[in-house]
Amino acid sequence: MTFIADYIGRSARDNVLSAIAKAKDNEQYHALLSLTQERALERAGAVDRGDITGKLAGVPFVVKDNFLAFGAPTTAASKMLEHFNAPLQSTAVEKLEAEGAICIGKANLDAFAHGGSTENSAYGPTKNAFDQTRVAGGSSGGPAVATALDIVPFALGSDTGGSIRLPASFNGVVGVKPTYGTVSRYGVVAMASSTDTIGVFTTNVADAELVMDIMSGNDPKDMTTLADFFIPKQTIEPKRKIGLIKEFMTDDVDPEVRQRTLEYVQRLRNDGHTVEDVSLPIVAHTLAMYYIIVPAEVSSNLARYDGIRYGHRAQGAKTLAELYGRTRDEGFETENKRRIMIGSYVLSSGYFDAYYLQAQKARTLLIAEFNALFEQYDILLGPVSPTPAFKLGENTSDPIKMYLADIMTVPASLAGLPAISVPAGVNGSGLPIGVQLIGQRRSDADLLALARSVEEK
Ligand code: GLN
Repeated sequence: MTFIADYIGRSARDNVLSAIAKAKDNEQYHALLSLTQERALERAGAVDRGDITGKLAGVPFVVKDNFLAFGAPTTAASKMLEHFNAPLQSTAVEKLEAEGAICIGKANLDAFAHGGSTENSAYGPTKNAFDQTRVAGGSSGGPAVATALDIVPFALGSDTGGSIRLPASFNGVVGVKPTYGTVSRYGVVAMASSTDTIGVFTTNVADAELVMDIMSGNDPKDMTTLADFFIPKQTIEPKRKIGLIKEFMTDDVDPEVRQRTLEYVQRLRNDGHTVEDVSLPIVAHTLAMYYIIVPAEVSSNLARYDGIRYGHRAQGAKTLAELYGRTRDEGFETENKRRIMIGSYVLSSGYFDAYYLQAQKARTLLIAEFNALFEQYDILLGPVSPTPAFKLGENTSDPIKMYLADIMTVPASLAGLPAISVPAGVNGSGLPIGVQLIGQRRSDADLLALARSVEEK
């Protein structure tokens, strides 16, 4: 595993060339959809000449291909945007570039970030870094695998319902989903605007702190953004009170996942922290809430792909309705269409009260349950996923089974809370298992500091 520091002070050109060589050596994993070699080498030249300096000068990274970035198309792993060249770059990428980081490629995802395995990519799945017969997790499978394979020391992802945490846990890397609003979403293809967040994959917690600090902060182009990441904090007791969410530790959860989680709990206790069982009963309903609210927002956000403004346009249509219909039929994947249908249905006048409104009310109850726990506990803890990485194809014919993989990640998304996935060892077959730490709003820095203290031991 490499660290960001390993790349600093070396020839940026060598860094870029060796990252690209590693990407090519690992093509069979299909982590990347494109390389941005030409632009990367130009930027490397500028770093080596001293024209670009900064905290990440010459450090290569990749971005999930739903971030607008120069040097290659931004496809969102869809046919709709197959040839779409970004007219501007996302704020997150701009901020990293301002510190001298160099994007070397665009990483695979489930089309429009809809999915939990990267099998919904229009360009084929990414394979798990530890077992090529298994999924990478999703929807940010490409960035997670690129980090796990050491192609780059960090990679950007987006997390709407678990898309950073799940693939981080399946590939044994650190994944950060910050408090909603921490990093500007400007220039990132929208999925569900009330839960979309931008975060990072790294091989270690300290590197995640560095990248989050650079990317975060207020952006006038995204009115939901908050001020700095490392906010001045109330003094935090060095020994935290941590709640282990018991609904995440039932017999339905893989025994080795529970075992690794309990071992992590033991490490926390050995460091003097208190860990107690806590209950979040509404968790039983969070998938139902999520799979109403998110498709509703998806159906609205995807309405802009009409074949007129940008992206794919169907040929030969005779009427406007036919042009819209055929463009959207050809440009979207099955899972995109499913979500547009569900979203349109739950927002329709006849069903709005029964589904969408109910789900929003339940979401408020979830936030209240979290708030009540945070009156007594600093941090909540549990696994990231009920199982380690599943087999490619295992869940593709059964969307509900696929959605069940998200059961432990969607609660923090619906509540806008920071949540990170940290490696907690492997199972008997060598597959990584991740533990999830969930904090109060804006406690991101504290959450990472705790995770770092455990990692360093
Ligand atoms: N797997 C979840 C879903 O399919 C999460 C996706 C995401 O966070 N982008 O909605």
